[in-house]
Amino acid sequence: MPDLSSLPAVEKLAAALSTNVSLPRPLVNLFVRREIQVFREKLLADEAHSREEIEASVKKGLRDFANSRLQPVINATGVLIHTNLGRSPLGPRAAGALQKIATGYSNLEFDLPSGARGKRAGYLETALACLLETQAATAVNNCAAGLVLTLRTLVEEGKNEVIVSRSELVEIGGGFRIPEILETSGAKLVEVGATNKTHLYDYEKAITPQTALILKVHRSNFYIDGFVGEPEITELAELSKKHGFPLVEDLGSGAMMNTDELAPIDHEPTPQECLRRGIDLVIFSGDKLLGGPQSGIIGGRADLIAEIKKEPFFRAVRCDKLILTTLQESIDQYLEVKADPASSDVPVLTFLGTSTTDLRDRADEIISSLSSDKVTFSVEDSLARPGGGTMPRAEFPSIAIKLVPQNQSVAKLAKQLRVGSPALVGYTTDDALFLDLRTIFPADDALISEALAQVL
Ligand SMILES: *Cc1c(COP(=O)(O)O)cnc(C)c1O
Repeated sequence: MPDLSSLPAVEKLAAALSTNVSLPRPLVNLFVRREIQVFREKLLADEAHSREEIEASVKKGLRDFANSRLQPVINATGVLIHTNLGRSPLGPRAAGALQKIATGYSNLEFDLPSGARGKRAGYLETALACLLETQAATAVNNCAAGLVLTLRTLVEEGKNEVIVSRSELVEIGGGFRIPEILETSGAKLVEVGATNKTHLYDYEKAITPQTALILKVHRSNFYIDGFVGEPEITELAELSKKHGFPLVEDLGSGAMMNTDELAPIDHEPTPQECLRRGIDLVIFSGDKLLGGPQSGIIGGRADLIAEIKKEPFFRAVRCDKLILTTLQESIDQYLEVKADPASSDVPVLTFLGTSTTDLRDRADEIISSLSSDKVTFSVEDSLARPGGGTMPRAEFPSIAIKLVPQNQSVAKLAKQLRVGSPALVGYTTDDALFLDLRTIFPADDALISEALAQVL
């Protein structure tokens, strides 16, 4: 195969692209080679294309490929924890710590006072336990890993039944389904109750000598209403205690603050509340409402956490130093600002608590310098959502810039902004594009004015 980068057309292509994103030349070669192979096969199947068509197709493909490179995006969707947009952004404090640890050496597994080998994440585990007001805690790569690890640790041959209510057989997305997670963990699912109602006696009847644990799963991304009911956690705790097996909860979002005090939304159960009611182990994500890095936190009984840390699988899902330092920073901050949530620098919490008056002022300012006869724009009331599989019912007041293109499609306008630099992602209805201010960093307002000025 000849080196395609010497061909004038490829040379021209790569040069044209380098204005936006510059791709390493071997990647351009690989991509062009693949595209040409596709056209070659088409030709063999009697489907001919002109040179211009081929060039245009390769160029478009290459541009789309360049855009798929991980890059910053301005989130104007009004969805705070947008899984597709990387869930929670880190605050300046965590980002600063990340920079320092990432670019130097650290005491990751080194005990400075003795000069001997030290324990990874020892400080973080103590801080987590303190924050959760419980005996012990640890962290792994994500909540899903935390759940698999916990199940693998707590089920054994001849004692592998895990009891779950039929109303909690959740699919989280990205292939995460409770029945399948149980299967991969070596657990045998024992479903109890009905979709809408599960009684204490349902759990009670399902208990056998093979029962390993009862699992509660938070209905993070859907809700059931009407003729519904389930036993209190305290009743389940009493039941599992009586039979001598643990009660575990997959909580999902892990809000540390009372969400209902920050915004007009539901109260999201906190890990502390779960543990206080008698859950033996609670598992939740670090990058949802906690606002930290992608991680899974497991907290609760010290004997169970010790067992989990001894399980060989723990080694496969342990956090690296970059995650450990950002999580450590996030947790310390929660411990410090406990009395005053407003002083936290966690972006999702700041976004949650910003007043619509502030948002409206910023929106007015952004559009104040714009003028266009191609697009009409206005500032409108809108609704923001927590997202990320948390509080599916919650919508709260926000402010959005509404853009109505006069002689092009909304889809085209939205795409222009998405593939711009920086990428700007809003949401569309049939006739308008909305840019919601709730999830936009004030520091990005000027960039939005510029991006809009360019496309208008
Ligand atoms: C989000 C969620 C998970 C998955 O969390 P990850 O950190 O993405 O692995 C698991 N369980 C529940 C209930 C969730 O809401």
